[in-house]
Amino acid sequence: MQISEKQIELVNSRIQALEKAGSFYGKKLKEAGITEIRTAEDFGKLPFSEKSDLRDAYPLGLMTAPEEEIVRIHSSSGTTGTPVIIPYTAKDVDDWAIMFRRCYETAGITNLDRIQITPGYGLWTAGIGFQNGAEKLGAMVIPMGPGNTDKQLQMMQDMKSTVLCSTSSYALLLAEEIEKRGIKDKIHLKKGVIGSERWSDKMRERIHNELGIELFDIYGLTEIYGPGIGINCPGETAMHYWDDFIYLEIIDPATGKNVPDGEVGEIVITTLVKEGAPLIRYRTHDLSRIVPGKCRCGRCYPRIDVIMGRTDDMMKIKGVNVFPSQIEEVIGSFDEISSEYQIRISHLDGKDTMRIYVEATGDHDWASLSKRIAEKVKSRIGFTPIVKIVEIGVLPRSMKKTARVIDERYD
Ligand SMILES: [Zn+2]
Repeated sequence: MQISEKQIELVNSRIQALEKAGSFYGKKLKEAGITEIRTAEDFGKLPFSEKSDLRDAYPLGLMTAPEEEIVRIHSSSGTTGTPVIIPYTAKDVDDWAIMFRRCYETAGITNLDRIQITPGYGLWTAGIGFQNGAEKLGAMVIPMGPGNTDKQLQMMQDMKSTVLCSTSSYALLLAEEIEKRGIKDKIHLKKGVIGSERWSDKMRERIHNELGIELFDIYGLTEIYGPGIGINCPGETAMHYWDDFIYLEIIDPATGKNVPDGEVGEIVITTLVKEGAPLIRYRTHDLSRIVPGKCRCGRCYPRIDVIMGRTDDMMKIKGVNVFPSQIEEVIGSFDEISSEYQIRISHLDGKDTMRIYVEATGDHDWASLSKRIAEKVKSRIGFTPIVKIVEIGVLPRSMKKTARVIDERYD
């Protein structure tokens, strides 16, 4: 994806606003002597912004519009340290609702739908984002907020909710409760709009099967409006994103250079029209890739793949960036092995070696199976690992993905 002329024009207007406001990024640009960009190459030289920059600006250092134009703030949940405060103008709030309406429309949701919203309201961007978008669409909102499953299910039946907005874990919990209580025939849900967490195909399948609804992944982060900057279209997993509001790049997290379309890397976002707190080249640390080519649905908005994890999970082996999710995906495609795995990276005779341990689930020809797995991994990451098959139950059961990777190179 290359930045268009129209997008460059919008970036320049944001650069000027940031410099005028003297915000952290405005100062950064001034120090670098940048007042405008003319080409894609110029854009690529703009400095990145990081979450730590946003934290340093606490409380209102990001405010780029005059105080009288700021109508609201939101804050990222911030599990560690100082939270990030994002100021919004009335136009920002409206733009966000327009993007969110587009998400609902892409999912085939209309003003005849009844949308039950279970994400939280408050400082967080979730609940209110889902609500503003739904109201923009003209649908009926049932603003439940999180928790109180009894009440959720009661309202879901009485209001005949047709759309559920929730996290994947809460959707699964509701699905299990509906099953347990035997009230499936009283539920009218048709679609689920799921945000905020990375979830596995297995989980998606369970929610889909138990609730019998079509599921959509919504993307977004508080620093960039909130949820609603992208969603998948029916029958596809890749998410369209709204390139009239954001410019999205994929970079190699180690070098900061753009990767070719189709290659996995870190999502970096520039807001094109945001007033309250514009961000330029904001590093999200989310991993995905541009999905090249035109979508079957005919929409012209570009696409990214489902979020594959965080940059912190990245491993550099033989000079290639490898992500556990890539290995996980290959492992998930073989019925002959369990979902457990362990990756060991070592440095022998001047060379990096990757060994992948997997568990056979039945009687198989281990030699040919390990060869087939190694070939498939190679097609995914570019080099051949050593695949070792062990009996089922041998590998440690662990919840944390990072614990599955053991790097012995620097011991
Ligand atoms: Zn599409």
